[in-house]
Amino acid sequence: MIVEKMFLHVLIVLAPVLSYSFLFENHKLGKSPYFLGILYGASASLCMYFSYFDTALYWDLRYVPVVLSIFYGGPISGSITVLALLATRTAMGGDTLFLAYIIAVIACTVPFLLYKYFWRSAPKKRIYLSILAGFWPAFVKLFVLLTYLFISENSIRLNQNFYIYIAVFGTIQILAVVFAAILNEAVIERNLMKDEIRRSEKQHTLGELAASIAHEVRNPLTVVKGFLQLMEGEDERHKHYYPLILSELGRAEHIISDYLNFAKPEFKKIETFPIALLIIDLSILLNPYALKEGISLTHSIESNAEITTDRNQLKQALINILKNAVEATPKEGRVSIKLIREGEYVKVIVRDTGKGMTKEQLSRVGSLFFSTKEQGTGLGTMVSTRIIESMGGRVEYTSKIGKGTKVSVTLPLKNTSEAETV
Ligand code: ADP
Ligand code: MG
Repeated sequence: MIVEKMFLHVLIVLAPVLSYSFLFENHKLGKSPYFLGILYGASASLCMYFSYFDTALYWDLRYVPVVLSIFYGGPISGSITVLALLATRTAMGGDTLFLAYIIAVIACTVPFLLYKYFWRSAPKKRIYLSILAGFWPAFVKLFVLLTYLFISENSIRLNQNFYIYIAVFGTIQILAVVFAAILNEAVIERNLMKDEIRRSEKQHTLGELAASIAHEVRNPLTVVKGFLQLMEGEDERHKHYYPLILSELGRAEHIISDYLNFAKPEFKKIETFPIALLIIDLSILLNPYALKEGISLTHSIESNAEITTDRNQLKQALINILKNAVEATPKEGRVSIKLIREGEYVKVIVRDTGKGMTKEQLSRVGSLFFSTKEQGTGLGTMVSTRIIESMGGRVEYTSKIGKGTKVSVTLPLKNTSEAETV
């Protein structure tokens, strides 16, 4: 009976994702597109081997592994699976072999074309796309075969069960794709979470280390700076060195307080103020700097919301973001700040027309010590993110290489985190 056969097919279709998620998860093999291609290829071949033949048609889910392989395994894995499918079909032979080739080519092109779009979509949408792409081959197959039967005036009459078959086949195909896609998404999410945990552990350790070293270094530095200031008036010979020494020491001190701030943002004075005033302040503060670099810095304020938080910390966080925007932007570029309100939140959006970031850079921005600048410390974005997250807000980066970057800072009107306030 078709139903039993179809359930067998569901199992065959799920086998690859089950095996690579459980058996090979911690193995490099589980991520190799060649291996995935072979697994899915075997699954497609098995589907064909256990086909249910009726009404001049092979009823099976062979294209489900193909679609999954292309989407979740990538083009290499997909090609291997398609080859396996063609090889098995060739071995099976029959008069409709050439039709099978035509169907395979038409059916497989679409998921290949959708591949890029697929990975730009959110997980939920990816599941829907899998369902749609899973139906496409079935549709092509029915269409081509029925056309063929019609043209060749083949005497095969459609079985009266034909429509029931289509209903059963369709339902089971959806079930199979949905299960497989959900399992695939779960594997992806688990891997992402693992990476995230590993990264945050590493960052935590680094952060603690940095904080303790910074503490140790700051004290001697302060002493040296004090004595140098004392000596500044006395030693005539090296007089002109002192400003340089002091400014470099100042820089070192600045970096160290950044480290300490990163390790533990301290909110000293919580106050309620219109955030628009802070934006205007920032604009006034940074305008000379932007002008010096030949960049126009503008702001637009669309909300007079008041916010309750540590003003100086927020200022520091936004300065870091704005400085990066100015630093990334070439002469005659633009940096804009926009303030809007969204319900119980305000949003500060900083846009620049600078050099932008690659995907890889985008994924690392905000992590400790990541910098692409010669003199960079890789602390600015980290500190900003930490401060804003401690305020119960969040920072999001979107960027296009060569076009520019957009940083959205979302802040709750009321500071929700009491824990770190002093
Ligand atoms: P630093 O400024 O010392 O390099 P940050 O933590 O402030 O350290 O920034 C880290 C990196 O993030 C920068 O080196 C730069 O590559 C990237 N970055 C941050 N903001 C932008 C931006 N607006 N445009 C392009 N790249 C940016
Ligand atoms: Mg910076």
